[in-house]
Order: sequence, then C-alpha cells, then structure tokens
Amino acid sequence: MIEISNISKTYPNGVHALDNVSLSIPVGLYGLLGPNGAGKSSLMRTIATLQEPDSGSVLLNGVDVIRQKDAMRATLGYLPQEFGFYPTLSGEATLDHFAELKGIKNSKERKQLTETLLRQVNLWDARKKAVGGYSGGMKQRLGIAIALVGNPGVIIVDEPTAGLDPTERNRFLNLLAEAGERAAVILSTHIVEDVQELCERVAIIAKGRVVAHGTPETVIADVSGKLFRRTVGKHELGEIERTLQVVSKRLVAGKPVVTVTADECPAGFDAVKPGLEDAYFLFTADGAK
Ligand code: ADP
Repeated sequence: MIEISNISKTYPNGVHALDNVSLSIPVGLYGLLGPNGAGKSSLMRTIATLQEPDSGSVLLNGVDVIRQKDAMRATLGYLPQEFGFYPTLSGEATLDHFAELKGIKNSKERKQLTETLLRQVNLWDARKKAVGGYSGGMKQRLGIAIALVGNPGVIIVDEPTAGLDPTERNRFLNLLAEAGERAAVILSTHIVEDVQELCERVAIIAKGRVVAHGTPETVIADVSGKLFRRTVGKHELGEIERTLQVVSKRLVAGKPVVTVTADECPAGFDAVKPGLEDAYFLFTADGAK
C-alpha cells in the first residue's frame, strides 16, 4: 500500500538523517524501531508529506505523494510526538474543533462522530473535563481520536507510549491494533515490547538506514545462532569488552549479564534463544552490519 523507495535526506546542518531507505508498508500495524536519533521521525515526516526528501519516492497505492501531497493528506491521520492542546478546552470541544478543521462542516454529523470516537478511545466520561487536567494517557488517546477522524487509510504515530504507565500503554496499543484492521498504521518507538506484542511487521532503523525488516519472527531468525550470553564478575567486564563484540549488558540481580556476538560460542558462554530485543541490540550495535 505504501511503497518507500531509496529515500535519502541530509539536513542543512550536514546530518545524514536518512540513507537510501526502502520499505513496503501494507495495511496492519507496522513498527518502526530504532534508537533516538536513528531517523524515525524524519522518515515519518517524509511519509506524512511534512518534509521532502533529497531523493527517492513514496507511493501510496501507486500515487507519488511527494509530488501529489494531497493524495496522502486526504487519507492521513498523524499523531506527532509533541501535541499542542488548548488546556482550558474540554476533550469534546477539542475533538469537535479538529473534526471541523478536517472538513466535517455539518455540526450534527460532527457531534455524532465525536461521540463515537470518544467512546472508542474511552474518554466519553471525561469529555467535559479540560484537556489540561488529562493524564498523559488520556491526552494520547485524545490524540488518536483526532487522528482517526475521517477514517484514515494511513495512520502515523510517533513514539506514542513514551511516558505512559503500563495500563495506559496497553489501552493505547489496543486502539492502534484495532485501527490496523483497516489502515496502514506506522508506529515509531524505541520500546521493543510495543512492537513485539502487536506489530505484524517491523523495520529496525539505525543511523538513517534500515538494518532489518520483516515479521518479528523473520527478524529474530536472522540473529539466531549469533548470540551468546554469560553472567560475569564486574572485574571481568573490561577484558570481555576488549576481546569480544559485546551487543548488550545488563544487571540481573546485581550481576552483569553480557551478550556477545560471535561465529562460535566463546568459552564459558551459552547460546541465546533470541527475542526481538536481542535482534534489536545486535542490529543497532556499533559496528553491526
Ligand atoms: P528519531 O526520530 O529516530 O529520534 P530523527 O529523525 O528525529 O530521529 O533525527 C535523525 C537525525 O537527524 C538526528 O541526528 C537529529 O538530530 C537530526 N535532525 C532531525 N531533524 C532535524 C532538523 N530539522 N534539522 C537538523 N537536524 C535534524
């Protein structure tokens, strides 16, 4: 449905934010996973036609939306990372305002639509409350209600779960999954679990390049047999970092657990049955392919 081909972008300050990015994004939930600064927002702003690439194309059902931006804008629901609300306006009035901006002129129709959407995102009971008093999760759900106005065929959400508590995060991701039944939903995140649980497809992006893409299962299969893990003493860490290619380190019950990549299992290490997080660390590690 969305065909991204060879997109590159260098900002005027010389930062190469996107380097020859190509992806196909069908209907469903698509996770764009990468560390901060990887280029996720740049890519999403490009798909949303908010900025132009230096080269490459974005086709929506065969239409080049870099040339014909309206073809994308007519069907796009976009939830940016930073969202400006009028704090004194109620949730209901805010949604009504955006629905009007999106071209729904008939006030009766708008009233019906806002009711449907507010119920869908579970804000009906809070509809009269000023948005300034909403929690982070409520604001995000209002944001997705706004993005859903007009039945978009493409929904783009930038780091939507940052700062949400687990319950709010779950509720929000379920809403996205529902939207993904009808639309191409692109979810950018640096939180691996967001993608692992829900996305049919995923791309891992690092330093402006797509370093892996496919279903979570195929991405995980790509790193199978390449990762080895061991609990180490703190005094051993330096030596391991000098002699092996460390992919990740974490403390488990106060002890460092080191994951390395190698062709063969280094002495004392155990083979890892990888998950998406392991794949993510390997693909985004310095010196990774
Ligand atoms: P992400 O969303 O993955 O955190 P971004 O697309 O925001 O990544 O940023 C990618 C790189 O481009 C970063 O190095 C960032 O500092 C830089 N960048 C982003 N937007 C601009 C801009 N408007 N001007 C200059 N550099 C930018």
